[in-house]
Amino acid sequence: MSVERAAILGGTPVVPAGPPTWPPPNPAWTEGLTAALADGSWGRYHGPWCERLRAALRQSHELEHAILTCSGTVAVELALRGLGVTAGDEVILAAYDFKGNFQDVLALGATPVLVDVRPDNWALDVEQVDQAITDKTRAIVASHLHGAHVDMARLAELACGRGLGLLEDACQAPLATVQGKVAGTWGDVATLSFGGSKLVTAGRGGAVVTRRADVAQRIRLHTQRGNEAYPLSELQAAALLPQWEQLSACHVRRLETVQSLRRELAEGPSARGLLPFPHPGPGCEPVYYKWGFQFEPAAWGGLTRDQFAFAMRAEGLALDPGLRALHKIHASRRFRAVGGLDVATRADRDVLTLHHPVLLRPSDEGRCVATAVRKLWAQSAELVDWFQRQPALADMPGDSV
Ligand SMILES: *Cc1c(COP(=O)(O)O)cnc(C)c1O
Repeated sequence: MSVERAAILGGTPVVPAGPPTWPPPNPAWTEGLTAALADGSWGRYHGPWCERLRAALRQSHELEHAILTCSGTVAVELALRGLGVTAGDEVILAAYDFKGNFQDVLALGATPVLVDVRPDNWALDVEQVDQAITDKTRAIVASHLHGAHVDMARLAELACGRGLGLLEDACQAPLATVQGKVAGTWGDVATLSFGGSKLVTAGRGGAVVTRRADVAQRIRLHTQRGNEAYPLSELQAAALLPQWEQLSACHVRRLETVQSLRRELAEGPSARGLLPFPHPGPGCEPVYYKWGFQFEPAAWGGLTRDQFAFAMRAEGLALDPGLRALHKIHASRRFRAVGGLDVATRADRDVLTLHHPVLLRPSDEGRCVATAVRKLWAQSAELVDWFQRQPALADMPGDSV
């Protein structure tokens, strides 16, 4: 079978139209917005939509308190405040995590303590958390990233035993099932994001959910200043509510694409060059926001992760560099590192993520990813050569939202 030329070598892109935009047009979501416009609640401080959204979040998580916020980043900061984190405290988090989580810890005057991730799933290595704890430790942040899960059963036991607050960051994993429980219900408090790239979006927005009345009260004391200091609007809530109601059905469609793509990639010739993050295991139903892959430069004859991502973009597919590891982008005086953080350093260099909108398309779009990977694999030597002749591309950014 002849393989098409790679797009950057002059061939036709696999998806000429490029990655699908997000959010897509959706009648149910439009209906929510239209209703908020019709009843005038879109322009009010208080109306039915925020209350309905809070109720939906409480119900989905079976938790007593839901607080809506203007972003996921603020939700994380408020959740840490709710746990009583203050200046001089230490907060443990993975060295490979969302950049804002690190900065939220700093915003409170606390010190981020970075722990390595696991080589098999790139999630916080719970076995290394114990040795990170000092008498200054106040809280632990656990983020479920790229379709992988932190071992929450073990971590919750450890946090409880040591009297530490546990924040479960479910911004990338709304309504995932983690070891038999809904993501966000393992810890003392959890966060969600409704940012523009997220699975449930209002362009901006977020939420904190918790069963702990004292945590919710501390957050309210900070946010209520005669009026909400970090609000989500009625208009945003009207757009979010129908998405929340459709979320599980959308998860199923994305999962189907992931499963067929996982099979295709495993059977393809590039299987040792591009390894999807594994399924998190029994009792888990992951959700896919940005599905993670480990890129193996050696298998590609020296092609780098960033060059590969660039070539995939030319094919019309958003398989982009993952997050930057926190110790690679912050001055070392800002944090304390536990051990060498070797796996996080590799994640910084080698992780790729597939942006979710393509997963919602009919399953042949998922196949396009495998087709493009196969194409690049067959022409990797030519690609290495091509990039060597493009010095301007030598320092390509490795960051994504
Ligand atoms: C997106 C995200 C956030 C923050 O959300 P914003 O709404 O973009 O501020 C926090 N944590 C993780 C893991 C995220 O992916």
